[in-house]
Amino acid sequence: MVLFIMAAASGTGKSTLARRLLAAEPRLRLSVSHTTRRPRPGETEGVEYHFVDRAQFEARIAEGAFAEWAEYAGNLYGTAHAEIARTRDAGGDLLFDVEVVGAAALKRAYPDAVSVFVLPPTMAELERRLRGRGTESEEVVARRLAAARRELGSAETFDHLVVNDDVERAADDLRAILRAAGLRTASRRALLDRLRATV
Ligand code: 5GP
Repeated sequence: MVLFIMAAASGTGKSTLARRLLAAEPRLRLSVSHTTRRPRPGETEGVEYHFVDRAQFEARIAEGAFAEWAEYAGNLYGTAHAEIARTRDAGGDLLFDVEVVGAAALKRAYPDAVSVFVLPPTMAELERRLRGRGTESEEVVARRLAAARRELGSAETFDHLVVNDDVERAADDLRAILRAAGLRTASRRALLDRLRATV
């Protein structure tokens, strides 16, 4: 089982890349996080997230239900241990679409996980994308840019860096990383056990 951690500086197009990767890789499933953020139009309970209120989320923290959790833009987000156990039992690989603090915590808890940080091609392009999102005020754009710079500061702690210049190219890079991770000796225990059991 490959645990595939994806993080990025905000505005880098990580969600689009994650969706493409999931569509292209049938063995890969999204780790459905818990969040206190309200569902956006088109989001469904249990598909993008498990939507809970703050009290429910805090109760889960107290129970020790989360492998990691973090606060992002005023909302809580967390990965339940149960998500990881479910994939371990069912087989397949698991994608974590998380912010940088959660990515670091997951990597500490699961050192065999492969972690990828998605970079913008340039800071000017990132600023253009942040502005292009809609009718954001200068203040909001400046806050997002500052957050992106902070997030970029942790890039060295990731196993791989993928530049989202061309979406096809970046999605291809992610697939290459996932494929290589699946071929690591540590990911192939079952194969070795099967072969050895027959001699
Ligand atoms: P959004 O609200 O746009 O869906 O997500 C905001 C940020 O929270 C994104 O960077 C997303 O990757 C991150 N995120 C989503 N789920 C989790 C989680 O379970 N843990 C952590 N640490 N971050 C998460």
